[in-house]
Amino acid sequence: MDRRKFFLLTYGCQMNKLDSELIASRMIQGGFEETDREEEARILLLNTCSIRESAEDRVWGRIGAMKARKMKDPGVVIGILGCMAQEHQQFLRAKMPHIDVVCGTREFGRIDELVKESMETRKGVVATGEGGNGDLVHREVGQRPMRAQAFVNIIRGCNMPCTYCIVPATRGPEVSRPVDAIREEVERLVADGVTEITLLGQTVNAYGHDLERGTDLALLLRELHQLPALRRISFVTSHPSFLTPRLMEAMAALPRVSRYFHLPAQSGSSKVLKAMKRGYTRERYLARIRDLKSLIPDMEFACDFIAGFPGETEEDHRQSLSLIEEVGFSQSFVFKYSPRKGTVSADFLTDDIPEDVKARRNQELLQVQEQVSLAKNKAQVGEVREILVEGPSKRRKDRYTGRTARNRLVHFANEDPSLVGRYVPVEIIEAQAHCLIGELREETRTLQAGEDEWLGMRNREGMGR
Ligand code: SF4
Repeated sequence: MDRRKFFLLTYGCQMNKLDSELIASRMIQGGFEETDREEEARILLLNTCSIRESAEDRVWGRIGAMKARKMKDPGVVIGILGCMAQEHQQFLRAKMPHIDVVCGTREFGRIDELVKESMETRKGVVATGEGGNGDLVHREVGQRPMRAQAFVNIIRGCNMPCTYCIVPATRGPEVSRPVDAIREEVERLVADGVTEITLLGQTVNAYGHDLERGTDLALLLRELHQLPALRRISFVTSHPSFLTPRLMEAMAALPRVSRYFHLPAQSGSSKVLKAMKRGYTRERYLARIRDLKSLIPDMEFACDFIAGFPGETEEDHRQSLSLIEEVGFSQSFVFKYSPRKGTVSADFLTDDIPEDVKARRNQELLQVQEQVSLAKNKAQVGEVREILVEGPSKRRKDRYTGRTARNRLVHFANEDPSLVGRYVPVEIIEAQAHCLIGELREETRTLQAGEDEWLGMRNREGMGR
């Protein structure tokens, strides 16, 4: 069995998935070879997530299973990377001697060296400082899983004080990447066939505050928008406090910037938002939405909610429900509150909402969102939308899926794999709460880069600028 083959398993958010692409790049540059078959690898790497207890539980289970493999074959190298390595470094060192490499969130830019050191010394290696974050890795652009789409990190870490969140502790303070480095990476991705990019950061719209004066997300969007081959540009995750007039103006002026905007509120109650230390009230959140809608009337919004935060009353919960209806989110991601050790809310607030109440509120938020989503999706029936084809449907072999410029998932009958990565028109024939069903239509003309459903809608509705 080849000692240099590695198997990399990823848990958690999109940022972790992108980090795994960078980890794989670095390992390959260091002379290792990736395999997707765990049994043929001698190096097992887990890129982990701490955001919720359930995510951690799955990783602990997997670490246990890897121990059995190590006992049979002591030459196997096991590495734990990312948030859990950062958060539980003491425990991993003290209680889990079968782990060979503990690599924190700001060290995986040198993961190949850490693995080699462990192989050579046959000792455990722990790196949880700031020796090299992933942005130091020269990305192998061909490493990405989707041909036409790519994620690009622009800012790491978080400076915000949200009381429920472990991210500032695991990922450290915000560090923005220079504009030139981002543009260079995006140009290489575009040269390799990418037409849609998503810029990533925990507080993506705080980008640039630690760089040269005048550098911000608005400037970066204007810079990237100059690349004509890029047909769609989006960014996640935004914080309402950094939705500045300058950013809104840039979004309005740049037609290829996505008209789907994920702006997590977390709660519709100003009282709960204060306890969360989110830095805005319900009214200010709504004012931001109004401001952006006044510039881009057809902008679609998506949201995150936490159900059952400590102290949340039925009235607070009703305010979250009403926020969904008032804004008319096209999508909401809802999570039950779970205390994370090391956060302010876990250490200083009482987790006083019973589990069954959290579950009910969670369900009610989802139900209201489903009604709103369904009504919005029904309004799409009969329209022709341009979608970027992503691949075969997971559930039905005779269907493929794609997304509109507003991030709506569309399933359509197709058996032609050559459509993957292409932009094709589909007529929407049926609406469900979570997706649309469409039928392929003839391409009557070639859509130019930047011409998308949004422009089509503007033309139909006569919205000039
Ligand atoms: S903005 Fe708040 S919720 Fe988001 S990563 Fe930072 S601390 Fe966590």
